This record gives sequence, structure tokens and C-alpha cells, in this order.
Amino acid sequence: MKRTKIVATLGPASTAIEVLEEMILAGVNVCRINFSHGSYENVLTQINNVRAVNTKLNTHVAILADLQGPKLRIGVVENNGVELIVGNEIIITTKECTGNAQRVYITYPQFPKDVKAGENILIDDGKLLLRVIETNGIDEVKSVVVYGGTLSSKKGVNLPNTKVSLPCLTEKDLKDLDFALEQDVEWIGLSFVRSYHDIADLKQIIHTQKKLARVVAKIEKPEALLEIDKIIEISDAIMVARGDLGVELPMEQVPLVQKMLVRKCLASSTPIIIATQMMESMITNFAPTRAEVNDVANAVLDGADAVMLSGETSVGKYPVKVIEAMSRIIVNVETDESIYYKEQSSVSKNLTFVTDSICYNACIMAKHADVKAIVSMTNSGYTAFRIASQRPQAQIFIFTDNHSLLTTLNLLWGVQGFYYDKYESTDRTIAETLEILKSNHFIATDDLVINIMSMPMKERGRTNMLKLSQVK
Ligand code: PGA
Ligand code: MN
Repeated sequence: MKRTKIVATLGPASTAIEVLEEMILAGVNVCRINFSHGSYENVLTQINNVRAVNTKLNTHVAILADLQGPKLRIGVVENNGVELIVGNEIIITTKECTGNAQRVYITYPQFPKDVKAGENILIDDGKLLLRVIETNGIDEVKSVVVYGGTLSSKKGVNLPNTKVSLPCLTEKDLKDLDFALEQDVEWIGLSFVRSYHDIADLKQIIHTQKKLARVVAKIEKPEALLEIDKIIEISDAIMVARGDLGVELPMEQVPLVQKMLVRKCLASSTPIIIATQMMESMITNFAPTRAEVNDVANAVLDGADAVMLSGETSVGKYPVKVIEAMSRIIVNVETDESIYYKEQSSVSKNLTFVTDSICYNACIMAKHADVKAIVSMTNSGYTAFRIASQRPQAQIFIFTDNHSLLTTLNLLWGVQGFYYDKYESTDRTIAETLEILKSNHFIATDDLVINIMSMPMKERGRTNMLKLSQVK
């Protein structure tokens, strides 16, 4: 069983239920739906297919609905592509038109007001670079081509130097969010987060609609790094969105930013996903490059909860093979002891001190006593987050009577969830959960195991007890 999870983006290559089933059997734990593409009809098919496979295989694959946020794009371009020549001038306009080498539309009405002379305009993941000469402050910005190439329709635009005045949740995002919440997806991702207020606003909407979806903050703007501690604190998970991040920041800074974010997330028990271009060459090739193998391996060694695939599984030729290859890399790297036991003791005597202390000491004890499994009963999922972030080598088995929570927790490093709904007595629950694990061959007679739970059980309070025992 691999511990690091795989998030796979769905698309035309992976909507068919047969393909999805193979992908899930090969190691997918979370399916990401990118709301930048695809109609609601397709999205609904994807969601239903994932859930049908879950029912068939008795798996808990979660759905991450990824909202595009204030993503900027150029409009349609004639002949579906024009050549931009270095030194030539080009007008960026907020009036919709078919673009050419002299004039192109941008989906950002305030652009001429927000931008200043000398600022950079990056197009198509930074492949093209324009520099602003002047703006009329109303509807046109004159720029010069610094790095040229083919400009094709609807490519993304990054403005690393400009203070973009668009709200984080656009009108499209609000509609997409309603749709995703209607489907009770487990995770909502928000792109181009700039401030913790963006996440607070999103959470407020989810709360108002009485939904339980948790939130992933996609880190891909320099502004987000300025208040990263607050963003990590308020978010349920973090994504290192290296595609846009590497355009918004000098790309050579991304590796250390990745490591810094993993370190901070481990310390705060916040799951972290490493995303984009991990196995990019497998969009067309049946095997990854050696550099890609190393990139996935290094993300696992850094301590990521999950690694993510985008084009590889959404439009690639090998949506199953790429999962198999990624799983093999993960399993191999996880034989290295250095990735385990990253306990961080909780110092503050706050509300959760008792539970935090139990989780921390369960992991310390697991290490010292060579414990095979840590078994927890949870109502809120809190102990799963705490235990997983300590990265115990002991297996993590989480029992709960909440199906949707089981699915939510599937993103977390090492967490395997089981349904259990008899809240009668502590003794009986310990005996029965161990029996379930034993009959499924997750543990065997004489293995040392730790159970953590809340006593008395019926009150369903916070985790406050720990038992170390040997499997009968
Ligand atoms: P995207 O996010 O695929 O939605 O752009 C990931 C990234 O930017 O890396
Ligand atoms: Mn992005």
C-alpha cells in the first residue's frame, strides 16, 4: 500500500467508467475536476462515474472541484494562431474582437486601469513575453513583444507585476461553486488565492449553504506567499500550483517554495498537494523522463501528502499507465526510512491540546514499539489530520460512521478509511475494529497496534485515550 496519495485530473481521456476504474485500481485517491474546461453535463458524468466506481470497488475516491479563480485569458485569435515578432507592437484591448498580430482581446475589463508602463505580460505559461509601453486607462494597452512566438486562441495570461483588482471568486466561480456544492463534492479548490480573505469568503459561502466541503488553497501568486501562514491556517489543504507559480515567480524559486510550503504544512497538520508537470511527457509518451521520475520522488521525500496529474490524465494518451508509473515511484521511495516520523510536539495548551497530545504520543510510541497500525475512531476527522501529518511508519486506519468524511480523508497521507457505526462501548469497538482489520489482512496475530478514541464513546467527544495492545 502506498502512503502518498495521487490526485488525477479528469478530462476526455478519463471520463469513461472503465478507464476510471483502472485508474483507481492503479492508485488514484482523488479525482480533480477542472472547472476551466468542460460543461456541467460532462462534469456530472465524471462525478457520477467516480461514485459508481466507489460503490463497485468499495473505495473512497474523493472529488476535488477546482474553481478557476481570476484566471486571465486572451480571446480567440484568427487562423487559430498568429506569429508575434520580437520588437513589434501589439494592442491588448478589453473590447471583444478576433485577435491578430496587431490587436488581441483580454478577459479582464479593468486591465488598462490596473496596469502600468514597464510591467510584464506573460502569455501561454510564460512562452511569450510582452512589455507594457502605455495604457489609455480605459480600454487599450500598448505593448511590445520581448519574446515572440505563436499566439493561439484563449491562452492564459499572467501579470506577475500587476495588482489585479478582480475578485478571487468571479461570477463564473460562484456558479461553478453552487453546482459543485449541489453535488456534495468533498473538496473545493480555489485558484490564484492572494489573501486569506479569499479562503474565508469561500468558506463562508460553503457554510451558508450548510455544506461540509473542505477547501484547498492553490498557491500560484506571489501575494499569497506574503501571508502564507494565515492562508495555511485557514485552509483545509494547500496545493503548490507550480504551473502558474513558475510564471508568476522566477521559476528557479519554485523548488525552495515547494519545500518551504511542505515544511509549514507538516507543522500545521495541513495536507499539501504538489501539482503540475510531474509526468508531463507521458501526455504523449508511454514512459516518463528520468527527470520526471526524480521530481515525483523528491515530492514524496519532501513530505507531500499527494502528487497531482493534470494533462497526463485529462487529455493524455496513457491515463492508466501514468498512474501505474507514479505508484511504482511512490512505493519505491517509501521504502526509505527518512520519510517517516516527522512528529511535531504541540506546545500550546489550547482547546485541542488533549487530542493533539494523544496523537503526538501515539506516533512516538508507534516508533519506539515498532507498532504496525494506529487505529482511530473519528467524528470530525481531526485525529486523521493530526496523525497523518506526523507521518508514522505504522499504518493509519480511520473508522467513522460518516461516509462523506471517509471520502474527504482519502486525500491525506497514509489514511485508509473504514465505515463503522456501532458506538456502544470502548472495549467492543476496539475488538471489532481490530477484527475488521485482521479479517482484511491489514494486521495479523501478535502485531502491536495502538487504538485512540474518545471515552466515554457515547458522548462523541474529542479523542482522549490511547491503548497499546497485541492483536489476538
Ligand atoms: P491549473 O492549476 O492547472 O488550474 O492552472 C495548477 C497550476 O497552476 O499549476
Ligand atoms: Mn494554475
